[in-house]
Amino acid sequence: MMRLIRPDDTANPPRSESTAPEMSATTPGGRELPPLPPSAATRRRLRAQRRRDTAPELGLRRELHRRGRRFYVDRAPLPGLRRRADLLFPRSKVAVYVDGCFWHCCPIHATQPKHNAAWWAAKLATNVARDRDTDARLAAAGWVIVRVWEHQEPCAAADLVEQVLAAPPRALGT
Ligand SMILES: [Zn+2]
Repeated sequence: MMRLIRPDDTANPPRSESTAPEMSATTPGGRELPPLPPSAATRRRLRAQRRRDTAPELGLRRELHRRGRRFYVDRAPLPGLRRRADLLFPRSKVAVYVDGCFWHCCPIHATQPKHNAAWWAAKLATNVARDRDTDARLAAAGWVIVRVWEHQEPCAAADLVEQVLAAPPRALGT
């Protein structure tokens, strides 16, 4: 059973497309993306993505610190698997990912770029597939995965993380 916690939070407006997953040219299944089209706009967008220390991440970290929580930042839960979690609580085996609305296709704010539409569709689908693959691998290794969207308020995201730390799903036998 998947131990993935993702709340439905629809309260907030779109944010910047700032949180990007790790770049890779292949899907978890090894399917190759089509070659990147020679578009300056596409290249600019890819270059502008930031992989860590985004505003939503910092907000969540700050709020959890304020509540006395301590954790690792930007660390891989599993040795050898390059899927670093944004926040890691090793003792509780809880991995937290703050997913960017654009890069991870948030149901509220996902958009499909019009230029190079096919390439972007493949790229974003690859990101989502990698997320699910990460979830499955971590769950299989006994980790609890908490995914929050970048559009969520830090307090709400921190509440969710603390809820899981207090009573991980595995402890409840779910
Ligand atoms: Zn969103």
